[in-house]
Amino acid sequence: MVRVLLSIVVPCFNEEDVLARFHDHVTVELARLEGEFEIVYVDDGSRDGTLPLLRELAAGDPRRVRYVSFSRNFGKEAAMLAGLRHAAGDAVVIMDADLQHPPELVHRMVALHAEGYDQVVARRTRDGDRVTRTLTARLYYRAINRLVDVELVDGVGDFRLLSRRTVDAVLDLGEYNRFSKGLFSWVGFRTTTFAYENAVREQGRSKWTFGKLLNYGLDGLLSFNNKPLRAAVHLGLLLLVVALGYAAWIVGDALAHGVDTPGYVTLLVAVTALAGVQMVMVGLIGEYVGRIYYEVKRRPHYLLKETSGDGEPADTRVTGESLWETVAPK
Ligand code: UDP
Ligand code: MG
Repeated sequence: MVRVLLSIVVPCFNEEDVLARFHDHVTVELARLEGEFEIVYVDDGSRDGTLPLLRELAAGDPRRVRYVSFSRNFGKEAAMLAGLRHAAGDAVVIMDADLQHPPELVHRMVALHAEGYDQVVARRTRDGDRVTRTLTARLYYRAINRLVDVELVDGVGDFRLLSRRTVDAVLDLGEYNRFSKGLFSWVGFRTTTFAYENAVREQGRSKWTFGKLLNYGLDGLLSFNNKPLRAAVHLGLLLLVVALGYAAWIVGDALAHGVDTPGYVTLLVAVTALAGVQMVMVGLIGEYVGRIYYEVKRRPHYLLKETSGDGEPADTRVTGESLWETVAPK
């Protein structure tokens, strides 16, 4: 078996419009590279013609094109995880199917990898994005970098090359709530970043809705450490100090000038504001408990419905394989 040098992992969810074009584009680019390559497509439970198209592509070039298909839509994080598990390359590049990640850049990534970098990250500029999204992203990253230990950079996404040891390290992180951007950063190793011009989606629509983005943002915030809990404790202490100060002032005022008019508004505002703060804190604790709940269930990240060939990476075939892939350590 030829040792695969470069694996391209492509999560696809309802991408029938662009997939053929993407495939042509990528194969042309990869053919210019020295050495072998393989493309691992992950069909994330698409409901359009994506899967039949993948069958066709894999049948046309079974040695270099493989796919795995999920039983339903499990999300891009799960799709990337499956792709990384099934990639056999010494280096792996993760790419979107919608041609927003220019295949030409793979050359540059491979060249930088050859210089000894374990992670080569492409950072997109935000030209052409809606102003609101650019702005929220900027604010979000400023806030989140204060809170989490790992560094998250605006514009840096999943378009990156990972060396084999980086891939193995990422796969060793078996957590259920996966926030890959943070995981890649957490893993570390020699990393370099280069910027590229943002490309507008060629066809189809972005699957990100506002709600999804909001949840993604919260995930990033909560999936790394307990700093938000710590912040809650600080806020609680601060409120306590303010309340005690206020109480002392009222007592002092009453001693000096006698009892004032009843503080109806003050009381109402204080009670509702504190109730709000408490709700947020309880919600915060709930988020962490919810995460623990999902972790202890140890459900698989995804279920496979179909794979090309036997679906195993070219050179890491395991015995007794089933379509049930769990997060349990091997
Ligand atoms: N994707 C996926 N599962 C999902 C949503 C998206 O595998 O549930 C894939 C999608 O097919 C594409 C990539 O993830 O290849 C990025 O998705 P999209 O272009 O919608 O996101 P954006 O570029 O707007 O961030
Ligand atoms: Mg896209």
